[in-house]
Amino acid sequence: MTEPTQKKAMKDLRPATRLVHGGTMRSQFGEMSEALYLTQGFAYESMEQAEGRFTGASPGFQYSRFGNPTVAMFEQRMALLEGAEAARATATGMAAVTASMLGQVRAGDHVVAAKALFGSCRFIVEDLLPTYGVECTLVDGTNLAQWKAAARPNTRTFFLESPTNPQLEIIDIRAVADIAHAAGATLVVDNVFATPMLQSPLTLGADCVVYSATKHVDGQGRVLGGCVLGSEEFIMKNIHNFLRQTGPAMSPFNAWVMLKSLETLPLRVAQQVRNAERVADFLAERGGVARVLYPWRKDHPQHELAKRQMTGGGTVVVLEVDGGKAGAFRFGNALQIVKISNNLGDAKSILTHPATTTHQRIAQPAREAMGITEGMLRLSVGLEDIEDLIDDLKGASAAV
Ligand SMILES: *Cc1c(COP(=O)(O)O)cnc(C)c1O
Repeated sequence: MTEPTQKKAMKDLRPATRLVHGGTMRSQFGEMSEALYLTQGFAYESMEQAEGRFTGASPGFQYSRFGNPTVAMFEQRMALLEGAEAARATATGMAAVTASMLGQVRAGDHVVAAKALFGSCRFIVEDLLPTYGVECTLVDGTNLAQWKAAARPNTRTFFLESPTNPQLEIIDIRAVADIAHAAGATLVVDNVFATPMLQSPLTLGADCVVYSATKHVDGQGRVLGGCVLGSEEFIMKNIHNFLRQTGPAMSPFNAWVMLKSLETLPLRVAQQVRNAERVADFLAERGGVARVLYPWRKDHPQHELAKRQMTGGGTVVVLEVDGGKAGAFRFGNALQIVKISNNLGDAKSILTHPATTTHQRIAQPAREAMGITEGMLRLSVGLEDIEDLIDDLKGASAAV
C-alpha cells in the first residue's frame, strides 16, 4: 500500500479533478480503479508491530471498525470535496447525524435545532437527547431572532438543514453560525438537500457538516452511508473516539461504491439541477398545481438568500396540487416514469407524499405548522431525458 503519490497537490486542483483522483491509495499492483479491501482486520508482521499499532507508534490499520483503506479513500475524497480537514464515514446518514450530536453533548447541555428537520433528525434532537439529560429547543429556522433568543449559557450546539425537507426553506447559515459562536456553541449543518456541489457550510461558518451519502453521493439507490466532516480539531475532539467505540462503521463495500460514485457526482448533480429547473418552471404553469417551490425560482420566498449561499437550486422540486390528499394521490398514481418511493438524489426520479410517508409520524396540526400540507408532493428529479419527464408530469397534472 502506498500513500497518495500525486504529482500536484490535490488542494491546488478543482473539485471535479479531486473527485476523480483524490484520496487514491494504490497497492503494490498499481490498480487503476480503487481497490476494495473487504476485510475485517489486518495481520501484523510481528508482536512488536501489533503493540505499536495499538499504542499508535506504528502507523497503519488495525481493525475495520477503526479504519479501513477503502473507507479511508472515501473519507479523504469527501474531505477534499468539502474543503474539510477531516472526514469520518458512517454506516448511514443517521449514524452521522447521531454522532454529530451525541459526540458533542453531555448531560446538562442544551441544543437548539430548526423545527423543519428530516423525521429521524427531529427524533434525535426532540426525543432521544432529552432521555440523556440534554434539553432541546426547536425554533423556526428562518427567524434569526428565535435562534438568538433560544441560546442559553449551557447551549452546546445548533443544528439545521437547508434547504429543509420537504418545505425547501432556506436558512441563513452564516447568520446562524455567528449567533451560535457568539453564544459559545457550535453549528452542525445537514447538507443533504444542497449536496456538496451546491453549498459549502464550512465556508459559511459551520463547524461540522453531515451527509446521508445514501442520497446524491451514491446517487444510484444502491447502498446506505453517511459522513461527518469538520476541522481536525472538531473531529478529534467530538467524533473520532465516539465512532470508534460505538461502532457505526461504513462497510468497505459501501465505501467502494461511494468512491466510484464520487467520480461522477458533479456531472450527475449538474444534470439533475438542469432537469429540476425545467420541471419546476413547467409545473408552475400547469393547471391542478397550486404552487411550486424551487429555490432558483423568483417566487421562492427566500430566493435571494438561496442565491447568496448556494450555487444552484438543487435537485428537489416541491409542488402543491389542488384537492389535498386525493389530488396528490391522483397525481402520483398517474405517473408512468417517475417512481413512488422515498429516496432522493437518485438517477431515477422519485415522488414522495410527505404527509402520509416521511412525515406521517408527526401529528397533523404540527405538520401543518411546519408547512406540510395534504396536497404537498416532493419530487426528486433524476437523470431521465427531460422531455420524457415533462410528458409524464403533464399526464399526472392532468389527472389531478
Ligand atoms: C435521508 C436523510 C437523512 C438520513 O440518512 P440515511 O442514510 O437514510 O440514514 C438525514 N438527513 C436528511 C436531510 C436526509 O434526507
